[in-house]
Amino acid sequence: MRTEVLGVGFDAVTMAEAVERGMTMLETAAPDYVVTPNPEMVMVCREDPEAARAVAGASLVLPDGIGVVYGAKILGRPLPERVPGADFSLRLMERMAARGGSVFLLGAKPGVAELAGEKLAARFPGLRIAGTNDGYFQDDGPVIQKINDAAPDFLLVCLGVPKQEKWMLANRDKLKVRLMAGLGGSLDVYAGVVERAPESWQRLNLEWLYRLKKEPWRLGRMMRLPKFLLYVTGERLRGK
Ligand code: UDP
Repeated sequence: MRTEVLGVGFDAVTMAEAVERGMTMLETAAPDYVVTPNPEMVMVCREDPEAARAVAGASLVLPDGIGVVYGAKILGRPLPERVPGADFSLRLMERMAARGGSVFLLGAKPGVAELAGEKLAARFPGLRIAGTNDGYFQDDGPVIQKINDAAPDFLLVCLGVPKQEKWMLANRDKLKVRLMAGLGGSLDVYAGVVERAPESWQRLNLEWLYRLKKEPWRLGRMMRLPKFLLYVTGERLRGK
């Protein structure tokens, strides 16, 4: 049973448990997919049924933002901890490297996935970069063919929300991968194109504020966060 926050069900797992579940999924040929919604995505799901279906169909739904963890707490159904997608997949790749696993990096602007691949290969010796493709393609067909020819264990899908979630749901049956995850701007972070908040900001759960400082145009999108907290409080007061 999933922990429901404003209509989106989350798996109540710690980071360590999520990584274990990911490792188990890598052992079976069926293409499972993982999603990591933040409050913004929860609000998108309320307005976009196709996005909600894509999230609900995932094998693992992880709470990316601290807002989701707070929301669950306010609703009286606490989630153990925040499990950011970018960290989840780094830990998974670290484990995969030890057994010579392979990844395909899909998404971001041209050149970013290749750069991310070089950095990941250097960081995790043993990890095989099976292939890369930018995220600005028109036809799915040739990209799916390229991925299937590379036959990676793990496919990182970084096309932004909710495009990546819908893409995984629509194409899972055509893809020869064992596991995939929708990871937003993670390739930009791995490539070093976008820096993550310093650890001190992360420890204070202020990663969102740091991001806003660096990318102020996100304010419009981030205004979904207060709305999210308002809705959560409303549900709590109505005793849901
Ligand atoms: N992106 C992409 N194709 C698109 C739209 C976006 O590959 O059609 C990439 C974009 O370059 C960026 C990532 O998707 O690397 C989205 O990053 P963002 O930080 O906005 O993540 P989100 O908040 O959407 O998870």
